[in-house]
Amino acid sequence: SIMPATLSAISNGARHGILVKGGVHLENLGSLQAIALDKTGTLTKGKPEVTDVVVREDLLEADFLFTVASVENYSNHPLAASIVRYAKSKIDKQLIKPENMEDISGYGVQGMINGDLWQAGRAEFVGSLESEQFQNGIGPKLAEQGKTVVYVKDEQGIAGIMTLKDVVRDTTIAAIDALRKEGIRTVMLTGDGEKTAKAIAAESHIDMYISGCLPETKVDEIKKLMEQFGTVAMVGDGINDAPALATASIGIAMGEGTDVALETADVVLMKNDLPRIAEAVKLSKKMNRIIK
Ligand code: ADP
Ligand code: MG
Repeated sequence: SIMPATLSAISNGARHGILVKGGVHLENLGSLQAIALDKTGTLTKGKPEVTDVVVREDLLEADFLFTVASVENYSNHPLAASIVRYAKSKIDKQLIKPENMEDISGYGVQGMINGDLWQAGRAEFVGSLESEQFQNGIGPKLAEQGKTVVYVKDEQGIAGIMTLKDVVRDTTIAAIDALRKEGIRTVMLTGDGEKTAKAIAAESHIDMYISGCLPETKVDEIKKLMEQFGTVAMVGDGINDAPALATASIGIAMGEGTDVALETADVVLMKNDLPRIAEAVKLSKKMNRIIK
């Protein structure tokens, strides 16, 4: 049975934009040691904008954009939507349907355009060495600015890069600082490369970051954090975060996240309001004192 103090805390929480699906989670929040947060859509707004386009000398930028957007048009990754929107604003040709289209979760997309194979995605997907060497290392340099670099490859090699930058939410820094004040270690999990991750972690005041994550490895990282720290929460918004939300001691979903994340989570931040987490921790500590 739920203690009266817990019940009033839950309804109090709901009124304040946080939904806790059961007293046990509210109690656990008070003993939180570490919190892992997904980057895209959680710490950031999840609406990346294209910032740079660099193409190989033998290609025209308009043709490059047309081809990349035609392939990305069939991916449901947030980066893909932004790339397509950007390309459509620059060219007025109808995109075409690639053949043998494949969307490889956590890596990128590929498809045949006019009989040629085109790939777009992270460096490991299109060939790390070639990617790093493209245009005297322009990709890694742009990644240091916190931009996500999408490498594009055709049958001749790296055809170009597109970079996208996502904005850190207005509430992120305050939310992270408040968690630190409660003695909780903050960890960012991201599929982005090391350089991009480092820049965004610094911008967000995050203590630690783990880059190059795949949906499967996010679960492993949560398990490791639980071994190291004890009670660990995970905050995320995407389908690919759901396994990690289920694994963590407390799964926290962004209210505007995907249905799977909302269903899997123990706690929902109704208005994506990250500072509510530290408030709930304080409330829990107070409540646990009353119960004891
Ligand atoms: P995250 O949620 O951190 O963005 P993902 O696992 O979804 O992580 O993707 C990891 C990386 O794979 C992305 O940062 C991006 O570099 C690359 N990637 C995935 N899908 C696509 C796509 N459709 N187009 C371009 N790059 C992609
Ligand atoms: Mg996300």
